[in-house]
Amino acid sequence: MKVTNYLISFLFFFNVCHHDAQNLLVQVFSQKKIHSIELEVVLGSYQVQSADGFLSEINEGQSLKLQVNSSNQIHVTKNGIFMGVYDTLFLFQSSHLDYIRLSPNLSNKTKVKPREYEGDFEISAFHSHIQVLNSIFVESYLEGVLASEAGVRCAKEYYKIQAIISRTFARNNLHKHDDAGFNLCDAVHCQAYYGNYQGELTAINEGIKETNGLVLVDSNNVSFPTFFSANCGGQSAETDQIWNKSLPNYVSHEDTFCVHTRQANWEVYISKAKFLSYLSKNYYFDISKPEQRDMAFNFTQNERKTFFIHPSFGIPLRDLRSTFKLRSTFFSCEPVGDKVLLRGRGFGHGIGLCQEGAMEMVKRGYSYKEILSFYFRGARLSGWNNPISHW
Ligand SMILES: [Zn+2]
Ligand SMILES: [Zn+2]
Repeated sequence: MKVTNYLISFLFFFNVCHHDAQNLLVQVFSQKKIHSIELEVVLGSYQVQSADGFLSEINEGQSLKLQVNSSNQIHVTKNGIFMGVYDTLFLFQSSHLDYIRLSPNLSNKTKVKPREYEGDFEISAFHSHIQVLNSIFVESYLEGVLASEAGVRCAKEYYKIQAIISRTFARNNLHKHDDAGFNLCDAVHCQAYYGNYQGELTAINEGIKETNGLVLVDSNNVSFPTFFSANCGGQSAETDQIWNKSLPNYVSHEDTFCVHTRQANWEVYISKAKFLSYLSKNYYFDISKPEQRDMAFNFTQNERKTFFIHPSFGIPLRDLRSTFKLRSTFFSCEPVGDKVLLRGRGFGHGIGLCQEGAMEMVKRGYSYKEILSFYFRGARLSGWNNPISHW
């Protein structure tokens, strides 16, 4: 009986995770080396199973403590009582509303802020650390992603946009972590997913529900890559300005909605000596010539450029951005005493959706469809599985 029970759950778990596109397997705490972890049921109950079958049920308020040992196995206790040592544990929620609080401890004993998650779990030892995979329906996963990526204080219309973008990203990247046996990680590498926020989330929940299953595709019904950044500085960037690849989906366009928002402008001072030495060391830029020094100190970008000064010097602006930790590549330079003043516009790569511009459009009464078609030119809406609605 137990074995049958287990097999049904096992098959369900893997079917759901690997074949049904509506369900995701997400690695959580992916940036942490977890040595031990406490799992406390906050709502409902969970069934605990090992590869050999049913082990136990944990109810509301009860907890499991898992610790990895030197032979790469997981030592399990329930409410302080030893239960055994296992390679992998599965936790299945009894109803889809049940959720659990995960409190990990790292190998170096630092504590990590606990997070709460819905869905099922597969927990295993991996190179002497504990790996936690969360099996979750896409629409529930999005609640966590939206709270993590956009915060919990935006308008519903804005969450509709972010839901479609994040859903499209998930659909476009289902195979990103195939080698490791899951779909997505919870870090910025994929999309931030720091738990299912359990507070009042009416706007997020409604934004997701009202766009249920919608994704962006191009005119040939091919998935549209959905990039976004905080503020484009008034002009969107093209992908080859920022990365070494050219995506025809993105053609630079003007954005007047974000130019007076919070992160529209920035300034940074860099010492002239440091600035010149960087250019000379990395790009053979001849700083002995006064006219070259002048060009470096008096660089203007009224429209987005790809290279500093002139393409012939071969100095990509993205290199300056990463070296000097600048908010964007969209900046101009002027000399101020022994320093160079960089006056910049925007925050982030500037490709795709401009979050602050989109929020401003929402304030001015534009609909999510109008905003998406403003930032993702040539894109249209479709269903996760089937092409459905268009605009
Ligand atoms: Zn990832
Ligand atoms: Zn913008």
